Parts: sequence; C-alpha cells; structure tokens
Amino acid sequence: MTTNRSTGENLVFSLAMLRRRPEKVHQIKNDTFLESLEISTAHVIEGRVHLDISIEISQEDVLVFGQIGSSWSGECRRCIEKVSGKLELSIDEVFRASDGLENGVKFDIEDAFPFKEINGEQVVDLEEVVRDSVLLALPFSPLCSEECLGPDPERFPTQDSIHIEDTDLDSKKDPRWAVLDDLKTDKNFSPEDTVA
Ligand SMILES: [Zn+2]
Repeated sequence: MTTNRSTGENLVFSLAMLRRRPEKVHQIKNDTFLESLEISTAHVIEGRVHLDISIEISQEDVLVFGQIGSSWSGECRRCIEKVSGKLELSIDEVFRASDGLENGVKFDIEDAFPFKEINGEQVVDLEEVVRDSVLLALPFSPLCSEECLGPDPERFPTQDSIHIEDTDLDSKKDPRWAVLDDLKTDKNFSPEDTVA
C-alpha cells in the first residue's frame, strides 16, 4: 500500500456499535478510496467515492441507502481523447445475518448482503456494495460524444484504402495524402494532439 489514505476501512461498521447508539439512523458523509475501480479504459479518479448514505437498524436487518458519487476518467473508444464524467448513484441494500434466521424462522437472504465477522465481531461491510455499484455504472466503452467519428476519419481510413501499391517515395504528391496535408494546415494538426 503506497498510500495512507483510508482504503475502504471506513466502510466497515460494527453491528454492536450501530445497535448501541440511540439513534436509529446513522448518517455517513465522507469520501472513501477504493483500489481497482476500473473497467476497460475507464477508472474512478483516485479511487475516490463520495458517500452520502444512511444506515438504519431495523430489527434483524440493517438497511443501507443513499447516494454515492465518483468522478471517472477514460479514453474515448473512437478518438482516444480523454473523456471524463461523474457518477451519481443511488444505493438501497439490506444486510442481515447469513444464517437466514429471524426469531427462529428461516427467511430468504438471497437479496441481502450477509454480515461479516471481523475479529469475532459482526460487521456491516459496505465495500462490496460501493464497489459493485460503481463498477456497474462505469462506462465500458466511453465515448466523447455519440457523434464522435474519431480525430479525423480520413486519417484513419479502412485498411483497404491505406494500401499503397506504388513505391513513390514522395507520397505527399499522392492526391490522397494531399487532402490530408490540407487538413493539417487548416487545423494546425500536430501528432501530439492525439497522444494522451
Ligand atoms: Zn471521441
């Protein structure tokens, strides 16, 4: 670990502590930092996730609901320019004991997250909830815009059209390249423009 920032530890809440507190709903408003919040070319900037959530004790259940937010950055899949965006997600989850027993009656825990045990203590660990929500919301194939055609469709023609059969070294005389020269002049094109 190269950072001493909290990496998810502040997403773990002792069940005993939650139950001991007099208030029924606990408000969590802070940032957490999770590693590996990334898919394809998109990643959460610094792994930072802002939490604005409530934890409510309800008999055997712990209800977790509210908003989480992140900023992400990635590459447009067509023009490879940098793309960024924000995620604002709602979460609404239930935690309950993994034995599925409530007052001796078995109930379905399929849609619930189980409590975890850390150092002999039952805890509610929100990391999986937060991580799954963010990963599902990250764009798998980011686009700078729906209309993006790439930096210059003529510069990235299909494989067939870039096959040059003649061996003329002065390719700038090739009318196909002359078109590109004009574009370069018009747009002050520089190769750095497309390098991230
Ligand atoms: Zn693009």
